[in-house]
Amino acid sequence: MVTTHNLGFPRIGAKRELKFALEDYWAGRQTGQELTATAEDLRRQNWHQQTGIDLSPVGDFSLYDQVLDMSVTLGNLPERVASQAGSQTDAYFRAARGRGADDNACCATAAGEMTKWFDTNYHYIVPEFSADTEFELNPERLLTQLAEARAQGVNAKPVIIGPVTYLWLGKTSDNSNRLDLLERLLPAYARLLETLADAGAEWVQIDEPALVTDLDANWRYAFNLAYHQLKSNRPKLLLATYFGELRSNLQLACELPVAGIHLDAVSAPQEVSRVADWLPTHKVLSLGVINGRNVWKADLNTLLDWLEPLHAKLGERLWLAPSCSLLHVPVDLTREDELDEEIHAWLAFAVQKLDELQVLARALNEGCNSVTQALADNQQAIDSRRTSYRVINPQVRAAVAGLQASLGNRQSPYPHRIALQQQALKLPTFPTTTIGSFPQTREIRQARLQFRKGELTDQAYQEQMQSEIARCIRVQEDLGLDVLVHGEPERNDMVEYFGEQLDGFAFTRFGWVQSYGSRCVKPPILFGDIQRPDAMTVDWIRYAQSLTDKPVKGMLTGPVTILNWSFVRDDQPRKDSCLQLALAIREEVQDLEKAGVNIIQIDEAALREGLPLRRADWEQYLEWAINSFRIAANGVQDATQIHTHMCYSEFNDIIEAIARMDADVITIETSRSDMELLDAFKDFEYPNDIGPGVYDIHSPNVPAQKQITTLMKLAAERIPAERLWVNPDCGLKTRNWEEVTPALEAMVAAARELRA
Ligand code: GLN
Ligand code: ZN
Repeated sequence: MVTTHNLGFPRIGAKRELKFALEDYWAGRQTGQELTATAEDLRRQNWHQQTGIDLSPVGDFSLYDQVLDMSVTLGNLPERVASQAGSQTDAYFRAARGRGADDNACCATAAGEMTKWFDTNYHYIVPEFSADTEFELNPERLLTQLAEARAQGVNAKPVIIGPVTYLWLGKTSDNSNRLDLLERLLPAYARLLETLADAGAEWVQIDEPALVTDLDANWRYAFNLAYHQLKSNRPKLLLATYFGELRSNLQLACELPVAGIHLDAVSAPQEVSRVADWLPTHKVLSLGVINGRNVWKADLNTLLDWLEPLHAKLGERLWLAPSCSLLHVPVDLTREDELDEEIHAWLAFAVQKLDELQVLARALNEGCNSVTQALADNQQAIDSRRTSYRVINPQVRAAVAGLQASLGNRQSPYPHRIALQQQALKLPTFPTTTIGSFPQTREIRQARLQFRKGELTDQAYQEQMQSEIARCIRVQEDLGLDVLVHGEPERNDMVEYFGEQLDGFAFTRFGWVQSYGSRCVKPPILFGDIQRPDAMTVDWIRYAQSLTDKPVKGMLTGPVTILNWSFVRDDQPRKDSCLQLALAIREEVQDLEKAGVNIIQIDEAALREGLPLRRADWEQYLEWAINSFRIAANGVQDATQIHTHMCYSEFNDIIEAIARMDADVITIETSRSDMELLDAFKDFEYPNDIGPGVYDIHSPNVPAQKQITTLMKLAAERIPAERLWVNPDCGLKTRNWEEVTPALEAMVAAARELRA
């Protein structure tokens, strides 16, 4: 018999129950007991929804983050958090979210650093280490959830993060080597495993996704050391890897002394037969065959053809699972009652993915005849998607096939262009601008909502947005900014706004996926060839420009960012989808130019996020990503100025690619790095204009003029002053007007001081 299991279930809740409970608790509207009850309820529902599979995960549920949970389990909360009074729950949330100073300016605590979980859009709290870190087992949370599961008759498999990946995910504050902590860490893991076995766990899933990254000899040695020391028959360990190929770690993974190994068969299908050959015959091989990171139905018949010989070879040793935790997909498709019927039939969310798993297992265990109907239905859905005219648009295909790389070239090199742009724009030195959005007030959000619900007429909505734009323009003129923006009031989200106007995108009502803590995103679903039926932004920008003599920037989201923040197609390479998006954005750029817009900004906030896990794969990604941007941006006249914006602070390793974009101006986040991040641009002799962010928009603090001039002088030590712009780190939509106005006032004053 094939065993089915799951690596993790979304915990936010089909109705985002956890999000709302957390936010109520933080705001003091809910007690700790109420929050605990909601969490317990969610776990019960989650296990209930996993009833049909053989082994369900336990401990995958988290109030905030599974890595932070592991830090708690290992007694490794930062000192600044652990030493304060209050309940354990309070300490946990302090570690996650930090805490502001109280009225006596006491007790402010910095939040743990947050960073991306491998190449997903989930963010975890980074474990903090120093040479003195000690570990102390605190298994309470896991034991509680295990007892709950067992009381509910769940065949429970506790899930923990393995010791090597746990260290890999963290950072040390004292330049010590975190691998030196391994020997101190392992006894805590040994006791944890024993404790879980005593509490009735036969199997424990121990996640080691670090195995799909580039590991040097020290890290590989750590794997050997760790698992030889944790070797035990009780509980049995299922070592889980996911998100990529094992490559040179394959043999290492196969030989570790564990009872079984889980492989991501969606991202590493070509490694499956090698692992099946290598794996000692007493070990279980769990294949993650259902994509845990995307929303498409699996092609079950094709999968079965592939699995049958593997099943014949492995027999009982074959387990089936989703490729990774289902944390990265929405909960339940059945709630999507407004989704187009045809597209609905192509999709599977977490609950449906577990159904697919059961069909596969039954087919293997009892023969295909036992699931004839399910397989036929699946085939129909797969065929319908493959042949739908909504997926394939011959015109778009032809346009992409005929693409020439020269389409991404500007007419002339930057020095020539910038001179023409200068002649036309006549900007002062240290020109001031902003990144695009202005405060999204409650009135704006309400108007958008009412418009969606049909409670506001098209005309009334247009008028209200126009009056917001007018207000933005007036404020910017009063402040004396040099290059203005319309403020983006009509945009709910920088990707969704464009997705909604492009053919080839679908939107869900409840397709929420946890991003971090209580924050969720609802990624658009890119299902078909991309086409732009109409101009998307031209009217708004034209209106804004009609109100002022100062230049107004056109404001677009770039193709790479739209791609990286969407659920993408699995029936063509990401590169092809990106090029289609590039052509659509290119049309918009050219329409803006025709409408007289002289400056166009194309945001690529998520370009860096798309970098593959393996260094060896970077160049290939950057090649098509940068090419896509160039195609989108560079089909304009020399006198049209192209801006791009990126909000992160690591450019060292991709600076060469950034330069290849050839944007006339790039604005970046820099205020928190004291301009040191400009060193990458300086060392590379980056040739074009740069707007290093001069204040942090994530904080409500209003910067002082002096602070800004100091930062700009630091910038001018690295980049020639005539190529510097003055702007905030990012868009202002999360701030309010009381913060924005004085901040920009200080910024403009600083620029004037610098000019003098
Ligand atoms: N133009 C966008 C804004 O200002 C950019 C947002 C971003 O970079 N994340 O909101
Ligand atoms: Zn930004």
